[in-house]
Amino acid sequence: MKKYTKVFVVGAGMVGSAVAERIANDSGIPVTVLDKRAHIGGNCWSEICPVTGIEYHKYGSHIFHTSDAVVYEYISKFMSLNSYRHTVYTTYQGRVYSMPINLDTINTYYGVNLGSEEARKFIAGEIDRDTIADPQNLEDKAVSLIGRPLYEAFIKGYTQKQWECPPRELPAYIITRLPVRYSYNNRYFSDTYEGVPVEGYAHFFHSLLKNYRISLCLNTNFSLSDEIEDDTLIVFTGPIDEYFSHRLGRLEWRTLDFEYDILDTQDYQGTAVMNYSSIIIQSGRQFRLPSFVENTPVTLVLATPPIIRSILKKIRRYTKPTESLPLHNKAWCLGGGSAATSILIWMMQLKLL
Ligand SMILES: Cc1cc2nc3c(=O)[nH]c(=O)nc-3n(C[C@H](O)[C@H](O)[C@H](O)COP(=O)(O)OP(=O)(O)OC[C@H]3O[C@@H](n4cnc5c(N)ncnc54)[C@H](O)[C@@H]3O)c2cc1C
Repeated sequence: MKKYTKVFVVGAGMVGSAVAERIANDSGIPVTVLDKRAHIGGNCWSEICPVTGIEYHKYGSHIFHTSDAVVYEYISKFMSLNSYRHTVYTTYQGRVYSMPINLDTINTYYGVNLGSEEARKFIAGEIDRDTIADPQNLEDKAVSLIGRPLYEAFIKGYTQKQWECPPRELPAYIITRLPVRYSYNNRYFSDTYEGVPVEGYAHFFHSLLKNYRISLCLNTNFSLSDEIEDDTLIVFTGPIDEYFSHRLGRLEWRTLDFEYDILDTQDYQGTAVMNYSSIIIQSGRQFRLPSFVENTPVTLVLATPPIIRSILKKIRRYTKPTESLPLHNKAWCLGGGSAATSILIWMMQLKLL
């Protein structure tokens, strides 16, 4: 670090903010944090819904989880996590199942009542029904791991929606294993530390970046072709293909638009996340974060526009709509993996003023 007298951190997300905090506090070198967005926090940013007063995660719900005591100790200097434990359910052909696949999923799906060892043998038998010695595509690989029925129910449609192509056209190496739990454990993450910041991610990021040596430049698009002085260290936390000025090609980043709505119902789905695994229903995933406020009568939902329309249509048969949020609340998501390709509905109970 000695040769540098200035640091530019590109991106004020989780990585950029933590790097800026560490450099500013540890080395004393002034750090400029640039972000092309109008806010810090990257995809973890949360803000207050102007209509309901509810704090929501603008780019989809983010649950903080780690098993690393050092990381936990570090973030605890800037935020406290609540006691939320993430669980996910999936709706398939009108029934709700636990995800990842566990003993409850197996027993409910097959209409049986197997114990752990019985279920292991049963699934091994299901796998043996398709003899796939050398899986050449994702479908064959998945069938060889969990058997065709569970694959068809819980993996096929969801994968097709995520990747926007049939799993038979995807390479087998994408999955090495599909988690099947032969217990009733339905925790999504198995980390030691897990939760959502009690005071919100906005508060967390403001605390991280609160340092007189850190200056923030929002709405600033950094380009690597920009002239950089020799004494300036650049820490780039944006997309890797952009870092190489797309010389090595463009990665297929997926984007999502979210819309928000408010439902006059206390708790629409009774859980934080509901996947829709069928390819018929045009949605991937719904979120409802644990409320920071108990017993509130209204729900804030977040989803992509076609999904929110179809789901709200259903909901409104039973509940009365309240005020819709303005379109400026549309958000987009950058990133890979299931999260970025999922459809999100995030419901939080409303704290009425
Ligand atoms: C829908 C969704 C849900 C997720 N849920 C979870 C979860 O529950 N738990 C979990 O641990 N992780 C979750 N993740 C992953 C998590 O979002 C990322 O791991 C984390 O946000 C990565 O932080 P980052 O700082 O690397 O990137 P980002 O948060 O993407 O921050 C990068 C920042 O860089 C800025 N930037 C990029 N290029 C430039 C440029 N040229 N000039 C200026 N600024 C630039 C961007 O505007 C952005 O603000 C989820 C991701 C998504 C998409």
